[in-house]
Amino acid sequence: MSKPISAEDVHDFMVAEFAKVRPAQCKTCVVPKPFWGPSPGSVSVYWYMEPGTNCPYGCRQLIAQIWARATTDFNITAPASRTATVG
Ligand SMILES: [Zn+2]
Repeated sequence: MSKPISAEDVHDFMVAEFAKVRPAQCKTCVVPKPFWGPSPGSVSVYWYMEPGTNCPYGCRQLIAQIWARATTDFNITAPASRTATVG
């Protein structure tokens, strides 16, 4: 059962999860804010996450995994305005 959550809260969740798994060598990567819009290759409009930096320590894959889990565990609520983005 997916829990409703705001995009701000899901970003906070991802920042916390990334902090747990982030490679110690990496000092630069941050979790991107989710954007509301049509996802690439899909007609449905939903939150999507821009691919992170192509980090040599694999953060991009880590962030993609956390995002996949977040979108499975949570039902991210739509923005109040159709054109609104977070951040
Ligand atoms: Zn990194």
